[in-house]
Amino acid sequence: MSKPTAGVQLRICRLCAATSVLVSCVILAWTGVPTQVSAESGTTDNTNESDKNLLTFAVMGDVPYTPQEYALLERQIAEIPKNAEFVFHVGDIKHGVPPCTEDIYQRVATVLAASKNPLFIIPGDNEWNDCKKPDEAWKYWSKHFQKFDKRWPHMFPVQRQQERNENFSFRHRKVLFIGFNLVGGRVHDVEEWATRQNQNVDWLHRQLDDSSTKVDRVVILAHAFPNSHNRGIFREGLISQLKAYGKPVLYLQGDGHVWKKDRPFKEAQNILRILVDQGGVASPLLVTISADDTEPFIFDRRRRTSE
Ligand SMILES: [Zn+2]
Repeated sequence: MSKPTAGVQLRICRLCAATSVLVSCVILAWTGVPTQVSAESGTTDNTNESDKNLLTFAVMGDVPYTPQEYALLERQIAEIPKNAEFVFHVGDIKHGVPPCTEDIYQRVATVLAASKNPLFIIPGDNEWNDCKKPDEAWKYWSKHFQKFDKRWPHMFPVQRQQERNENFSFRHRKVLFIGFNLVGGRVHDVEEWATRQNQNVDWLHRQLDDSSTKVDRVVILAHAFPNSHNRGIFREGLISQLKAYGKPVLYLQGDGHVWKKDRPFKEAQNILRILVDQGGVASPLLVTISADDTEPFIFDRRRRTSE
C-alpha cells in the first residue's frame, strides 16, 4: 500500500507508553538459556507459563515513510528489547510517491543495519513493484537488502530459495520461519506475478517437506495478504499446505498499515494472521512463541501514538 494512514501523528504518546500492556517474557541469552523472567503486565509472575516460551522476536513494516520517520526508526531499532533474538521488516521501506532512487535504499539499509540482533527483510511494493522502473528498483533492493541478515555473525541456519534468493527460511527452537516475496500494488507483469507465486508455493512446499515433523509452529512472513483476486495462486497453495500441516501457524504481514488480528482462512483455522501497525504509529511488535497450545503466539504492541 502506498499511502500512510491519514492523520498519522509521529509524536509518541507518553500516556500510551505508560499504559500499554506488556506481556510477561523470558529474556533469552544467545545460548538459548532463559536467564531472566520478568512480568511487566501487572499480573502475577508465573514461571511455569514463562517456561513454555520458546523464543521472542520483533517485527515491523511500512517504515520509514516520511523524513521524520527516519529518526523514529533509528530510535525504534535502538530500543528493540534485548530478548528479541532477531527482527523482521516485512517490506515497504519508503512511501509510494517519491521516485525509487538508490539513495533511499542505501539510507534505510544503514538505519536497519544498526540493529543489535540479526534483521531479516522482505520486499514491499513501494520499493519495487510499484516503482516507475521495477527492474532498476529491484537492482537497488538486491544490492542493499539481499541476504541482509548476513551482516550479523548469527548462528541461524538460513536457507534461501535458489531461484528467488529473497525467499528465506530457518528453523529455531521447533519454530519454522519462512519469508516470501508477496507484494501488493499493481500487477505490472501478469507472467512475473504468476511465476513468483508459483515459486512461493514451491518454497513453502519444500520447507514443510523438510521440517513439518520437526517443528510445532510455523511463522510466515510476507508483505501483503494473499487475496483471492491477484494473489490467488499463493493463497491456494498456502491454505492447502498449512491446513495439512495442522499445527499453529502465524501469518505476519504489513501493507495495510492498521493492526489486524484474525483467522481469515475458513478452510485453515490454524492460521492466525497479524497485520502489523505502520511503523510510524507504533514501535516494532514483539512476538513470543509459546509451547502452550492454548496460546501459541503472544503479542506485545508496545508504544503506539494512537489507541
Ligand atoms: Zn505495501
